[in-house]
Amino acid sequence: MHIARTLTDLRAAVAALRASHGPIALVPTMGALHDGHRALVRAAVTSGAAVVTSIFVNPLQFGASEDLSRYPRDEAGDLAILEACGCALVWMPDVATMYPPGDATTITVTGPAQNWEGAARPGHFRGVATVCAKLFGQVRPDRAYFGEKDWQQLQVIRRMVDDLALPLSIVAVETVREPDGVAMSSRNRFLSETERVRAPLLHALLTETARAVAGGRDASRALTSARNRLTDGGFVVDYFALVDGSMLTEIPTIAPDARLIAAARLGLVRLLDNVAA
Ligand code: AMP
Repeated sequence: MHIARTLTDLRAAVAALRASHGPIALVPTMGALHDGHRALVRAAVTSGAAVVTSIFVNPLQFGASEDLSRYPRDEAGDLAILEACGCALVWMPDVATMYPPGDATTITVTGPAQNWEGAARPGHFRGVATVCAKLFGQVRPDRAYFGEKDWQQLQVIRRMVDDLALPLSIVAVETVREPDGVAMSSRNRFLSETERVRAPLLHALLTETARAVAGGRDASRALTSARNRLTDGGFVVDYFALVDGSMLTEIPTIAPDARLIAAARLGLVRLLDNVAA
């Protein structure tokens, strides 16, 4: 496994992989890798591509009130995981490589980026879209792998790739969960013992609500009940909503491609999750 830290090194390594291997798959990450990231890398390896994983904690997607310096980092652990998964190349740029002096271009996605995470974290998706567009330009992958865990992010990236006619396809990978249903996330390590015990309620209520609405229960009542139960369970609910799966617009009742999405806080930790509805 090769580790590239400069654009010159990356370009040479990608060219060599393309010559020896053929298709290139990119897995963009911010490091602190866990089984969710492993699933993305494994899916990419299984597809037959040479896999490039990027590790870059992207300052542009963090808000002023969000603590970028607190984001977990574990370079040695990440590299060991990637090596074991069959990753061929790790791209670890520094901030100056991604945002060089004079850098004046960002990407704003509206539509699916507007609500939910877009409203709760102004500028977040501008940061995500911009860094992904840069990574796509640097690595020039044939496909890139994203987790369903960040459902809205996945739709924002799909929209951007379609709108800009970028020459790659986006592959989605199902959310990897702990045995009790909690979606794996690098932020879970910040949950206290009590909060970790409470955390499974979010996924439990998403699945229960999805089942109830699919079974004919009034969606508005089911959503209100779920929000109340989360609040009773110690969460501060940012949103718990039924949306069109690609547009991310709220919908009144179940429809093809409907998705239940939620963000709720336990103490300082904001948990995101979603299920098909
Ligand atoms: P991050 O490092 O948190 O930016 O995530 C990098 C990629 O891993 C994104 O495409 C995420 O959606 C994906 N990911 C994170 N957690 C999970 C999970 N539990 N299951 C599947 N994919 C995940």
